[in-house]
Amino acid sequence: MQNSAEIIRDQIRTVPDWPERGIQFRDITPLLHSAKTFRILVDLFVQRYFDSRLKLVAGIDARGFILGSVVAYELNLGFVPVRKKGKLPFETLAEDYSLEYGNATVEIHSDACEAGDRVLLIDDLIATGGTMMAAAKLLARLGATVVEAAAIVDLPDLGGSTVLRAAGVPTFTVCAFEGT
Ligand code: AMP
Repeated sequence: MQNSAEIIRDQIRTVPDWPERGIQFRDITPLLHSAKTFRILVDLFVQRYFDSRLKLVAGIDARGFILGSVVAYELNLGFVPVRKKGKLPFETLAEDYSLEYGNATVEIHSDACEAGDRVLLIDDLIATGGTMMAAAKLLARLGATVVEAAAIVDLPDLGGSTVLRAAGVPTFTVCAFEGT
């Protein structure tokens, strides 16, 4: 019998050469589309963090919002969006990070959390770890504790989860895919 991680991994679709040549896009939409695997996914996160004394879940724009908000709701926690530059209406803090070509910026509202808040950070996938690290830095600047940076998929060959752990950010992923 397959375990939850294997069932989840089997429902992730690989789309070659999207959005550009050489990228193997790990598409989570089939995982969300199936009522059974969506529930297995959410339950896995809910059970993992049930006793973690969390205050908030922070989800990263945009696929991190899907899982993050459901997990927050199920754990009876508030939800905080970490968004791409220019999307949040109130006063923000920003962190720049580098992509393969160029830079990107993520932002958080300045009142998103308070010093000492225990926050779970969620995205769909960790590649180089740049996005997750920038989001973790935003939360740290607000004085929050990132209890764990969690994603469905790890791409270990790109080294992001190793970098995050080396920087002291506890990191959890459900499954991994080789390559880029
Ligand atoms: P990174 O900052 O390099 O760790 O990239 C992670 C972010 O980019 C996540 O928000 C992912 O949604 C997206 N991403 C990067 N590479 C892929 C990929 N191969 N398949 C799907 N999403 C990806």
